[in-house]
Amino acid sequence: CGQCSAHCPVGAIYEQDETSKVWEALEDPEIYPVVQIAPAVRVAIGEAFGYEPGTLLTRKTYAALRRLGFEAVFDTNFGADLTIMEEATEFAHRLNDGGEMPLITSCCPAWTDYMEKFAPDFIDNFSSAKSPHEMLGVMAKTYYAQKMGIDPSKIFMVSIMPCTAKKYEITRSDEMFASGHQDIDVSLTTRELSRLIKASGIDFVNLPDEDCDSILGDYSGAGTIFGATGGVMEAAVRTAHHLITGKNLPDVNYEPVRGLEGVKEATLEVAGQEIRIAVAHWMCNIDTVLNRVREARERGAPSPYQFIEVMACRGGCVGGGGQPYGATDEIRAKRARGLYRDDESREHRCSHENPFIQTLYKDFLGEPCSEKSHELLHTEYRPRKPYKK
Ligand code: SF4
Repeated sequence: CGQCSAHCPVGAIYEQDETSKVWEALEDPEIYPVVQIAPAVRVAIGEAFGYEPGTLLTRKTYAALRRLGFEAVFDTNFGADLTIMEEATEFAHRLNDGGEMPLITSCCPAWTDYMEKFAPDFIDNFSSAKSPHEMLGVMAKTYYAQKMGIDPSKIFMVSIMPCTAKKYEITRSDEMFASGHQDIDVSLTTRELSRLIKASGIDFVNLPDEDCDSILGDYSGAGTIFGATGGVMEAAVRTAHHLITGKNLPDVNYEPVRGLEGVKEATLEVAGQEIRIAVAHWMCNIDTVLNRVREARERGAPSPYQFIEVMACRGGCVGGGGQPYGATDEIRAKRARGLYRDDESREHRCSHENPFIQTLYKDFLGEPCSEKSHELLHTEYRPRKPYKK
């Protein structure tokens, strides 16, 4: 990828262009092609069409995807809201029931691959929640397919990601096929999407703004900030606070986890308990946090943190390896600001307030971390051998 290809733990050093698989699906009358876009894509896709980095182009991107021929256009931000419901519930359970601490986020496949190969002593600390695009993929092939009366074997799910490691994640374990179908059929990068749009002759700049498709599209502000370092933690804190206290944070903007500092630490008081948080981004900063936990373990002391977010790319997904080339810290910061503007503009700022998420649990999943949620929305991690050189 742009920053860490030399150290890429998933071997995604050479970009695999999979646009031909998407063209084939779009042209096959037997297939029902659907698509989703990740948080960080909407603030970077415009750079291929002359826009400033950070310009929020969510609704123009939905329009472009419809013109390409997708039957339904969903939003990974909805999947991010679902990930937060599961992960924040997992955190509240561990906090109340004395489970393995710290809980560590697992929505970045480059980080999970690194951990399985180089830090397997943290496997029990990982959240078992799948990443947002996987969750949305499996909901499309179960919940959406049932509601719409579509044969799930005909649904072809494409995810547009800021990421090259997502191409590996979609087949990483049996749980990525939990419904009997592959959650995600093809994962394209932001760069591949801009090539698809250009190759099809779509006049992106002059497209109208359009809405995404129900019932897997509408998202909260918490879902969109997933794309910036600290965003997963901020989204999780918003919902974990509500789960534990029954109330939202007085101010949902949780500034201590924002920005490009390599390791950010914060303490949050929730119902009289201190929650110690760490956020690390860019692979070179990850061991700093892990070693602090290891040192405490060796001394028999409590963990210095109870909740850790890790993202492999500098700046989080806004600086991902599948984004337009040439990212600098200034560009990463502009893209992140676009996501925070999106968050502030949303009617609902917390994942648990998203009415479509509430309906999904009521009609289909039961409750967060239910048996059905575990079957479809969670995964496992295991030690793996590093690749041979
Ligand atoms: Fe992919 Fe980078 Fe985001 Fe991780 S931080 S999910 S590797 S884009």
